[in-house]
Amino acid sequence: MRVWITLRYLIARMTFFALRIPLKRFEKEVSRLWADASMDRLCHIDECLAKIRPIGSDGEQVCSLVELEQQSPLTKKELRERKFESQSGFSRHTAGTSGEPTNISLSNEELARMLAVRSYCYQKHGLRLGQREARIWGRAENTLGSKVRDFLLNRKVFYPAEKDAEKVVESLIDWRPEYLYGYSSLILEAARIIVEKGLRPEGIKAVICTAESILPSQKEYIGSAFNAPVLEEYGSTEFDVIAFECKSGHLHLVNPWLWVETRKGEALISDVSRASQSLIRYRLGDSFVMSSSECRLLGSQWVISELHGRTINQFAYLSSTEKFHAVVFGRAVDAYMSLFGDCFRFMVRQTNYRSFDIYLSETPRQGSEHFEAWLGSELRAKLALDDDVELEFNIFTGDQLMKKGKHTYFLQEIIEVAHGY
Ligand SMILES: [Zn+2]
Repeated sequence: MRVWITLRYLIARMTFFALRIPLKRFEKEVSRLWADASMDRLCHIDECLAKIRPIGSDGEQVCSLVELEQQSPLTKKELRERKFESQSGFSRHTAGTSGEPTNISLSNEELARMLAVRSYCYQKHGLRLGQREARIWGRAENTLGSKVRDFLLNRKVFYPAEKDAEKVVESLIDWRPEYLYGYSSLILEAARIIVEKGLRPEGIKAVICTAESILPSQKEYIGSAFNAPVLEEYGSTEFDVIAFECKSGHLHLVNPWLWVETRKGEALISDVSRASQSLIRYRLGDSFVMSSSECRLLGSQWVISELHGRTINQFAYLSSTEKFHAVVFGRAVDAYMSLFGDCFRFMVRQTNYRSFDIYLSETPRQGSEHFEAWLGSELRAKLALDDDVELEFNIFTGDQLMKKGKHTYFLQEIIEVAHGY
């Protein structure tokens, strides 16, 4: 078994080599760039821009950081309408959660840079790119092409949902992955089945959660089920990994070729090395707060201290003028799960002032009424609401009712607000 595992790792590494993806070179480069002091980083960004000369949204060449910061933000729509500056070898496509499809095309070097950043993050946690990966994703494509690709890249896709979820989780454990990578919600489902059936996975070095928001109590639950550290990744189709968790739990910026800014809380991202497409002050549609940490364990000292998710979904409204940040829901549910030793997925949808539809993946152990009452009093306390303010909750339970959110557990669907703010 051990020989086979090593052989599969070597095949995966040789696949990158055979595809002429200069992974090794960029792996060294990423480590070298992050080892430098921060002033050198600014010089490096300037040097890259002077060489690549990407086009800003105003149609002018951007040759320095000063010029970059004068550009207007680039929207997804503008990017879509642009012609590719060159046609490249690899393409990534996303349907987009906001109904905005994005097409990204990458050269071998650009793909190598993305993979090198991923590899750098993995190495800091004792993992290697090309190790046996269980990908907890949607249903696996049943084509020869995808089977060959998954074999070469040493990974297998598992979809622990719907009727055969238990069998899928058993086969996942039998497959003996070295690490797990995938959607937080599906990993949480797998963890629940492991706990319920008393299964004991062995040899898993890490569980990497991506694409969806996850609460500290949910991470703890997953960690104890898989007996492995749980690491959060924040990324996008356009840039792959943007931030990754260090051993102290910070979400560090990790791609040395990305210049990340926030404007009114909204993320603007520039890739200073991308020649096939100009991505300058690109509006990703996410919102977060960055802060500088003293931590040097991974990437930049700049970390994402609060990830708020999709920009339009940030606020809950009590009236047309009174609003509160939806993170209050996340904190309340997290506190509930810690307090009552429970674990479930949830989604809040607001369609009217002071009224919230709450979707739970299953009935809380103490019952839905208990949860509803507790949540009501917690929100009243946290928001310091007057006694005459009434909140209405409609609780729905059942996995099939849950919408798949990206980086968010809150959907704002009051029509007037959606157009008025
Ligand atoms: Zn750190």
